[in-house]
Amino acid sequence: MANAGGQVESETPARAAGLLRGLRHAGRVVVDYALPPRCPVCGIIVADDRQFCLACWQGLEFLDGPACARCSIPLPTALAGDDLTCGACLASPPPFDGAPAAVAYGPAARTVALRLKYGRRLGHARLMARLMARPLGQLAGEGEALLVPIPLHRWRLWSRGFNQAALVADELTRLTGTPHDHHLLLRAKATASLRGKTRRERERIVAGAFALADDARAKAAGRHLILIDDVHASGATLRAAARALRRSGAARVSALSWARVVPEALMTSNIFDFASLDSDIRDQIMTG
Ligand SMILES: [Zn+2]
Ligand SMILES: [Zn+2]
Repeated sequence: MANAGGQVESETPARAAGLLRGLRHAGRVVVDYALPPRCPVCGIIVADDRQFCLACWQGLEFLDGPACARCSIPLPTALAGDDLTCGACLASPPPFDGAPAAVAYGPAARTVALRLKYGRRLGHARLMARLMARPLGQLAGEGEALLVPIPLHRWRLWSRGFNQAALVADELTRLTGTPHDHHLLLRAKATASLRGKTRRERERIVAGAFALADDARAKAAGRHLILIDDVHASGATLRAAARALRRSGAARVSALSWARVVPEALMTSNIFDFASLDSDIRDQIMTG
């Protein structure tokens, strides 16, 4: 009996372990079945997690061509050279040295940014950072760069629960090793939406929106500060933030975004015919 009892005792844990293994296996199958990797734009099933499908990948317009050295607006290939500066920056230099973005703001880039910001698809921050790592490498060079996400006002942070720019900066640090600082730049006042406003109105809305933390000088002196944002639209927010960072004693201030609003004419034309652009598009270029 003792022998039989012993057998029962030795069989039970083995059977239980087998059952657990089976459950774990079944659980994984269920999870895999419920959550296959999907394209972050159109939702079609793809091979790997956080990968675009071919059609959406081809819909992204990478901004890796010749660009203005100051504001990084794409410039026509015909004018390619080492130190290009666009007319707008010659007339009125922006407060940053370079403001590249990974991709042009189009339907696919917009969907990714909106799903992170309003759809709480926090994994999209890593996807964006992956494509921002290359322009970051070109921008940061060998210097002592420090990533500074555009801060949200605390009311907005409370209501949203996270700052999408800070999530992207975290992922860029993880991918490239370039450190970030979430506390160097502060949002001193809540700002109204800039959408549909004229350039002058936008500048007025964001004036004084940013302030430096008390210890910003100690952290930033002599360094290259790189503002991180999701979408570079008119550039008014980036300019206001860059002006604040300039007061920190940083050696250099630049900005890196996921997507940049670029006039269609600049993406499709090889010839930069500024005069032929309508006034809205010219304003877009002028406001960087
Ligand atoms: Zn897709
Ligand atoms: Zn420029």
